[in-house]
Amino acid sequence: MRLAIFGGTFDPIHQAHLAIAREAAETCRLDRVLLVPAANPPHKTAVTPTPYEHRVRMAEIACRGLAQVEVSRLEEGTEWSYSIDTIEKVRARIAPDDELFFVIGADAFADIRTWHRWQDVIREVSFVVVSRPGAVYLVPPEARVERLDRLELAISSSEIRRQLAAGKRPPEVPAAVMDYILDHGLYGTGVAA
Ligand code: ATP
Ligand code: MG
Repeated sequence: MRLAIFGGTFDPIHQAHLAIAREAAETCRLDRVLLVPAANPPHKTAVTPTPYEHRVRMAEIACRGLAQVEVSRLEEGTEWSYSIDTIEKVRARIAPDDELFFVIGADAFADIRTWHRWQDVIREVSFVVVSRPGAVYLVPPEARVERLDRLELAISSSEIRRQLAAGKRPPEVPAAVMDYILDHGLYGTGVAA
């Protein structure tokens, strides 16, 4: 089996995340993509993320129609969301000859050398690195990388959060996720004008 981990904060999940999961599954012939929201992402210290439960539920809503994609709670309750911990948890549950991939955007991959136990990470997985406008990266010599360069999507959760807080309704948020955001007044949408 060919299985991939796709980690992130998903605050909120958006159309680029979904396009990436679909494209990676198709191009790399993946049987399953585990979309793993981080509980406490170590790289995101500047902003406090939206509570984990909301981010997971928005991801579940967005992935309903995607056959190969499954939202995973593997990082639930972890103190820090280190990818190596998640990779080792997944490894322990799959067959020895299953192939494990790690789907990641070019901006995040560019920082790979700063990750906790990064050399173990590159030993354990093959990367599927997705291009992102403005993001350049070097591939460490030992890393196995498949480049997915067809997508160049100028969409980010940070920009979506800004737009929501400004009263806009960005089309990059799937409709059912937008309903969830409005129902729960997330990202400043509950504040009366
Ligand atoms: P934020 O702006 O809050 O960082 P984000 O849009 O980057 O949000 P994340 O949850 O940080 O979303 O990203 C999860 C993963 O998806 C990361 O590997 C990131 O690089 C990748 N990713 C997100 N958006 C894109 C995009 N538009 N193109 C390529 N990769 C992306
Ligand atoms: Mg990001």
